[in-house]
Amino acid sequence: MANIPIFIPHAGCRNDCAFCNQKSITGKIVPPTEYEAEEFIKENLKTLSGNGHTIAFFGGSFTGIGKDNMKGYLDAAKKYVDGERIKGIRLSTRPDYIDDEIMDILAAYPVTNIELGAQSLDGEVLERARRGHTKDDVYRAAEAIRKRGIALGLQMMIGLPSDTYEKSIATARQFVELGAVETRIYPTVILKNTLLADMYERGEYVPMDFEEMLDTAADCYSIFFENNVKVLRIGLQNSEELRCNAAGGFYHEALGERVYSRVIRRNAQREGSGEIRYNRRFLSKVAGQKKENMPYLEGFSLYEDNSVSGVLINGKYVLTI
Ligand code: SF4
Repeated sequence: MANIPIFIPHAGCRNDCAFCNQKSITGKIVPPTEYEAEEFIKENLKTLSGNGHTIAFFGGSFTGIGKDNMKGYLDAAKKYVDGERIKGIRLSTRPDYIDDEIMDILAAYPVTNIELGAQSLDGEVLERARRGHTKDDVYRAAEAIRKRGIALGLQMMIGLPSDTYEKSIATARQFVELGAVETRIYPTVILKNTLLADMYERGEYVPMDFEEMLDTAADCYSIFFENNVKVLRIGLQNSEELRCNAAGGFYHEALGERVYSRVIRRNAQREGSGEIRYNRRFLSKVAGQKKENMPYLEGFSLYEDNSVSGVLINGKYVLTI
């Protein structure tokens, strides 16, 4: 299952979040025309095998681009949705750009998934990140999406100004309560030419310690995992543009791998001792980078077992990907 990703950098967004520089993330400034988007879909379809894919509008605030523009993109995508090979359309937007009128439009198209950039459900974190929306906006939008039977995704960031382990954990738990079926976990990257970079340079923002970030991301992952919320991604997609534009924070090429490793360690620490059973494909995650997990696994017997699809600690899955 894959996405045909159409990036709409900063289009539709009238906000300027402290951490955002969409140009740095996508490496593009001008959104594609509807014609270009359709050509891109056609091109991708030529090489796509299997079923269950989605056409995904990422990168901006899709529901803020104006109704005509939005319908133009949706019309371009709709032609290729057959419910089988291409099962639907996925889009991402801001919580405060969802209302009944927008939902009426979206409901007329085969939109199957909507992801909201919630980032945090802590008022102070939202304010310092200049998100321009409140926790209530997230609750309202989540309800509007769920009641239309569309799969709800909620994205979170870890380590924004004022964020703590406890606040991130509380956010993850509330995502579950809100009925999210999927999520993305983004440890904060400080991008050049952003307010966050200025705050960082002036010493007004000190990123969370890297180890604390790993613990936080790992424990958020476990909350999602235990509640069947699919974690679609950990960390921003690596790219040359991102590498060149990262001025600090948690840009790390193997961030997902580090977090998965930490998930195993944290669960082992909670259990104390017993048995770890893992598929061979997960060996590097069990051991951790430079075998950093091994001292924490001394109380466990380790078994490679390729009949399992991930990692089990004392008979309970803690990780599958
Ligand atoms: S809402 Fe999204 S696109 Fe808009 S400024 Fe914030 S992060 Fe960037």
